[in-house]
Amino acid sequence: MPIQLLPPRLANQIAAGEVVERPASVVKELIENSLDAGATRIELDIERGGHKRIRLRDNGGGIAKNELQLALSRHATSKIATLDDLEQILSLGFRGEALASISSVSRLSLTSKTPEQSEAWQASCEGREMDVSIVPAAHPDGTTIDVADLFYNTPARRKFLRTEKTEYQHIEDVVKRIALSHPQVSFTLKHNNKVMRRFAAVKPENQAQRLAQVVGQKFVDNATTLMLEHQGMKIQAWLGNHTMLRSSNDCQFSFVNYRGMRDKLILHAIRQAYEMSYGAVEQPAFVFYLNVDPKEVDVNVHPAKHEVRFQQSRLVHDFICKAVYDALCEDVGSGAAVSTN
Ligand code: ADP
Ligand code: MG
Repeated sequence: MPIQLLPPRLANQIAAGEVVERPASVVKELIENSLDAGATRIELDIERGGHKRIRLRDNGGGIAKNELQLALSRHATSKIATLDDLEQILSLGFRGEALASISSVSRLSLTSKTPEQSEAWQASCEGREMDVSIVPAAHPDGTTIDVADLFYNTPARRKFLRTEKTEYQHIEDVVKRIALSHPQVSFTLKHNNKVMRRFAAVKPENQAQRLAQVVGQKFVDNATTLMLEHQGMKIQAWLGNHTMLRSSNDCQFSFVNYRGMRDKLILHAIRQAYEMSYGAVEQPAFVFYLNVDPKEVDVNVHPAKHEVRFQQSRLVHDFICKAVYDALCEDVGSGAAVSTN
């Protein structure tokens, strides 16, 4: 076969393989876009675990009519322009791939209105070339993205979808994780027309209220809190004590610069601190926020951005481990009895 350029849809479907693993990955990408657009209200309507439909509405800045086509194109982003921007990234997105990828493996429509425009417009794309068509629509300021029939044209991917219940659970996990890092944004999550979760907006200084909404008041009341700043690094954490060890890792949330992740270095540092304090073998429960200078951390490691790379990884690891260990020890010292072995 001669060398030839792949048609746009196929190229996008290949890229989608990396970021669009399941309905929850679509939900993550869409919410991140709304947050980058400054939304303070995000509503999600999920049908049948997201297999049938994922619809997100936001009240963010919207997309101008003349940019709708670009928003659906690969390698088109409003978030970075130079390599320099990439090295100190603060937005959640920057790859310019999510909408193009998702629309290549679903029936996607994008409806948006900017405050400057008097009318809203709806865009969708079709065919091998992913030609974009744009029609007038009715919509308040902000954006609605409707993703129907995910993986309808990629049977291999569709086969890997689990039950409606399992896929919905993954979606709920994504929403909870993002809600924990954006307290000032309200979230409503509906599944099959039923409201499953509603997180009212709270002021950033009342972060504990958002924690209570998401992981429960009991956890907040019993957790040890940790606030520490050192050499440009800042930790804010709620650490479950020895009575809150669990058999699964379902209450482990870590964030770097408000980006949720399962970073191995952070998890290792926290686990090590728990082991040093409690000799724990089970899973600790924690909500952990680390803020560092964006220049010190590379977020462009994984297409789905699950991991980061720290320039001074040893330093960060030891800082986290010591901070968590000291906080847990203080808690032990203050009378919360513990048996060490
Ligand atoms: P990225 O987020 O990496 O820039 P995406 O494919 O996710 O790439 O989105 C492409 C562009 O579309 C974004 O850069 C942004 O300008 C625009 N966009 C996407 N979703 C929204 C939204 N909900 N509100 C406003 N603009 C959006
Ligand atoms: Mg994006």
